[in-house]
Amino acid sequence: MTSAMSKYIRAIRLMGASALDTVFPRTCRVCGRTLVTGEKLLCIGCMAELPRTYLHNVGFNTLHQRIGGEHEIDIAAGWFYYYSDSLYAHLIHEAKYNDRPATACQLGRLYGAELAADGLSDRFDVLLPVPLHRDKLLKRGYNQSLEVARGLAEALGCEVGDNLTALRSHHTQTRRSGYERYDNVRGSFGIRHPEELDGLSVAIVDDVITTGSTVLDCINAIATSSTPSRLNILSIGVTHMR
Ligand SMILES: [Zn+2]
Repeated sequence: MTSAMSKYIRAIRLMGASALDTVFPRTCRVCGRTLVTGEKLLCIGCMAELPRTYLHNVGFNTLHQRIGGEHEIDIAAGWFYYYSDSLYAHLIHEAKYNDRPATACQLGRLYGAELAADGLSDRFDVLLPVPLHRDKLLKRGYNQSLEVARGLAEALGCEVGDNLTALRSHHTQTRRSGYERYDNVRGSFGIRHPEELDGLSVAIVDDVITTGSTVLDCINAIATSSTPSRLNILSIGVTHMR
């Protein structure tokens, strides 16, 4: 190999490495330690100490209680407890505000792998991310819940649907007359092609669940317009009610 060619190959490799580092910086997003081969986003120590909820293993849990409502919810779970003053909050902030859709997707992949390891691969047919209103989407550039759903779907081997829509302000709703939509108390979400969800195990995906009112709005919108076989909720963060 000529020296010119080996220089060229080295330059290409360096470019590849730096492009990958842009997607996944090679430091732990929690403690800042340099990651070693095989570690993604979090180092092995921070993965071990992640304040996991394990709610997917608990039949009727704090999220079922929090969300309430009249519709039966099968699995309601989130990956880890979220405290705004915790170092783990960096993961959510980065996925949501720091223009890192790849982080959101990777969080979904990591959580999905743990759900799959606990035998939940076949539990969901379609994942529906909580949609962002168009104004927010334009500002942020991506919907972090969609990215989380993509990662989860990849790990769980299911589909991501776009049936949930964020309803816009009054002056534009008339243009949505073609949609079969459900206006609940808050009227935040609508369902596109509700018949597509009939008979399916549907999971709503959000980045963080706090009071649960957002996912409850989604549940109400779905259950009113279609007949899924199961309704589920998955998130990355769950705020701890203290
Ligand atoms: Zn770490």
